[in-house]
Amino acid sequence: MQNTLSGAHNQSNGHTAKADTAHGFRALFVNELKDIYWAENALTKAIPEMVKNATSEELVAALTGHLEETKEQVKRLEEVFSLIKEKAEAKKCEAMAGLIKEAEEIMKSTEKGVVRDAGIILAAQKVEHYEIATYGTLFSFAKTLGEDKAAELLQKTLSEEVGADVHLTEIAEAFINIEAMEAA
Ligand code: FE
Ligand code: ZN
Ligand code: FE
Ligand code: FE
Repeated sequence: MQNTLSGAHNQSNGHTAKADTAHGFRALFVNELKDIYWAENALTKAIPEMVKNATSEELVAALTGHLEETKEQVKRLEEVFSLIKEKAEAKKCEAMAGLIKEAEEIMKSTEKGVVRDAGIILAAQKVEHYEIATYGTLFSFAKTLGEDKAAELLQKTLSEEVGADVHLTEIAEAFINIEAMEAA
């Protein structure tokens, strides 16, 4: 029985295989940059919808602040593309599209007020966690590839995503969750 995959492996010498692997890893890095570039752009449109739906002053402020950060993150990604000499290109992120859809569903299925606010925080934190996972990995990839300046920029965004997540937890636990539970 023919196995084309292992056949291809047998034909390549060690050197070629290694070069192919490095190319594949770099391509994986660039591909994921395109994915998060799409995601951040989508968030610049999705966060304003969350702001419109939120009622707590603190939540509106947190989301508005993170919207401004997100716009900067889009530009920072363009800087990363330029640093690694790649074209800034967006590739649809199915995960972020799904998370944004979930946020819309949560907002539709709750009444405006503290309960919807608790739901918005839930949805927003899922988004932040996806971003934290992505930027954590991109930072490691950039460092491994010797793209130190790109790594620095990716780490900056990573720390903003962590900050946004922590802030949302604080707001939820300070009063929104309790008020949502007590809401009639
Ligand atoms: Fe972001
Ligand atoms: Zn994605
Ligand atoms: Fe889900
Ligand atoms: Fe974020």
